[in-house]
Amino acid sequence: QSFVRTLDDLHGVTHTANLVHQFSSAFDIFIHILRVIDRRIACCLKRDDSDWRLKNACPCCSYKVRSILSISYPSASLFTFRNSAKYPLAITRKLLDILGHNLGIGYDIGCAFCATLRRTCLAHDVQSKNLRYFCGVFHGFAHNRLCQLQHLARNIEGCGYEDFETCERVFSASNHLAPLTRYASPYHRKEAIDAHFRLWDSEKYRNLGTQTSGLFHGQY
Ligand SMILES: [Zn+2]
Ligand SMILES: [Zn+2]
Repeated sequence: QSFVRTLDDLHGVTHTANLVHQFSSAFDIFIHILRVIDRRIACCLKRDDSDWRLKNACPCCSYKVRSILSISYPSASLFTFRNSAKYPLAITRKLLDILGHNLGIGYDIGCAFCATLRRTCLAHDVQSKNLRYFCGVFHGFAHNRLCQLQHLARNIEGCGYEDFETCERVFSASNHLAPLTRYASPYHRKEAIDAHFRLWDSEKYRNLGTQTSGLFHGQY
């Protein structure tokens, strides 16, 4: 609304509610056109497969290192699901199917979840594909010493600098959307969240090069 008021001022037009609607619709159509173009490009590049994103989320993380325990997807941090193990179990199934062997997954209660996993039909795959559950360093320090020795990312060889608390950072950033989307329509809320994460992705991707070269030059 304030943006439309500024435009009205610049053009010397009297502000009316009607103009806000017109601008909002034009903006929605513009965003929609961008999405359609994105989808067509993804289709041409054969990136429209539903698992493509999961497989190609991060070139650094999915890079396989020989001779050390390679963690194919360290950023697979899960957050706590209230009273229900079905979501983390479904996610585990998907990650095992798509990413395969030697996976490390961070979960606030990764230690307790291991016991749950052993009692499910996933138990065999978890063992044969060497999947391990870790506790993130933020939550893990609240667990007992024995748990920390087995599950705390800081004590596990192969985890590198990963703290398995990516979700906390994701939520911390996306929380800023709340005041903007509180009174928005469901459509505009989704649009804002989608725009936020597209920007987040592109910024992270852009920073990968700088960060990786920093690692090799000992700046971390
Ligand atoms: Zn990564
Ligand atoms: Zn624990």
